Amino acid sequence: MDFQSTPYTLRCVECGKTFVEDDHLLSCDELHGPALLRADYAARQLSVRDDGDGMFRFGDWLPLRRPVKTSGVPVSFRGEKLGRALGLDDLWIAFSGYWPERGADMKTCTFKELEAPPVCSRFDDTARTLVVASAGNTARAFAEVCSANDIPLVLVVHEGGLDSLWSTRPFSDSVVLVGVDDGADYFDAIQVADMIAKRPGYAAEGGAKNVARRDGMGTALLSAAVMSGRIPDHYFQAVGSGTGGIASWEAADRLLEDGRFGGAKMKLHLAQNHPFTPMTDAWRAGSRALLEVPEAELKSRLSRVSAHVLSNRKPPYGIRGGVFDALSDTRGSMSSVTNEQAAEAASLFERLEGIDLDPAAAVAAAALIEAVDRHLISTGDMVLLNITGGGKRRLFEEFRIHRLLPRFVLKRREATEEAIRRFFG
Ligand SMILES: [Zn+2]
Repeated sequence: MDFQSTPYTLRCVECGKTFVEDDHLLSCDELHGPALLRADYAARQLSVRDDGDGMFRFGDWLPLRRPVKTSGVPVSFRGEKLGRALGLDDLWIAFSGYWPERGADMKTCTFKELEAPPVCSRFDDTARTLVVASAGNTARAFAEVCSANDIPLVLVVHEGGLDSLWSTRPFSDSVVLVGVDDGADYFDAIQVADMIAKRPGYAAEGGAKNVARRDGMGTALLSAAVMSGRIPDHYFQAVGSGTGGIASWEAADRLLEDGRFGGAKMKLHLAQNHPFTPMTDAWRAGSRALLEVPEAELKSRLSRVSAHVLSNRKPPYGIRGGVFDALSDTRGSMSSVTNEQAAEAASLFERLEGIDLDPAAAVAAAALIEAVDRHLISTGDMVLLNITGGGKRRLFEEFRIHRLLPRFVLKRREATEEAIRRFFG
């Protein structure tokens, strides 16, 4: 199929400065506090491209610059059985993962597969190698897409996330996995990735600051809006960094501006896994800043959650255009879901709808059940539950699984600038 690049400019949400040239820009160059950039697309109304591969059918609202092969696409459908059980007349499910009967064929079983293709397409720079830090799922998705396209990539993953590096296809040598052990968590991996990205020939992918990552995640909402014809009243998702929540807020704003999908703000309901709930705690305290908690205490809380990917100690919460602003603008809510609630929600979902959920998606489903119990939603409201990962158990039964092993393993305490220079020049 023919590849179409997308006309767009970048705009700082703090000062409004616009940038026409996009050299993988991650932040504004004016002297103000931290703020996200947003992409302003020339197409104010969304046309679904019938010649677009996979998620690139939403290419009007993705910052695409170079061709990348991709097949994954989010699917959306009415969750009739779950809706009936919860007393909701208009429940929709956006599903990312493996569920062939529903047309879902994302074999990484995670919505992170919606981030990697637009990020790689936007990064039109063959002289540098992208460096991505991940709690596990993002790494698997980038490894899959970069392997399929032979794009050079460095992944940095803490020891607890290394098990997440699998695929139904062999990995390409273009993908280098760096492990960080010795009690490291996701935030330690982010710090090591930052050090590697400063070396000549490397570039930080950027995480939440990368507009391609956010607008890629936003396609889950676009898919639901196109299928249902409207912007949902309520949106449920589990968050670690919160990037998916920010992305859906931004995509909902674009749909509002489009004018054909209704005129009401979509309320964000974001959930974290108890007891690791830094954003829920800050939001409930009415604070733009995360509350001070000693690192040892945070690590102890992290060790007790079932959804290990929801584990960012320094999420883009207070940054201008981040999670705090998204929740404020939509009068949203943040909840705290226990491991038991998540497990119960996953088994209810599987019994009624027929597919296994990953632990983060189970947290989102539990947050929806709790919101219904607390009468935060009316029977007739349109609700979108973003199931950000599922079908892994089934995929593992049906396919041979390949593993990606680390090329280097660094000890957390020894991961200094000097050590990085030895490995990466
Ligand atoms: Zn600015």
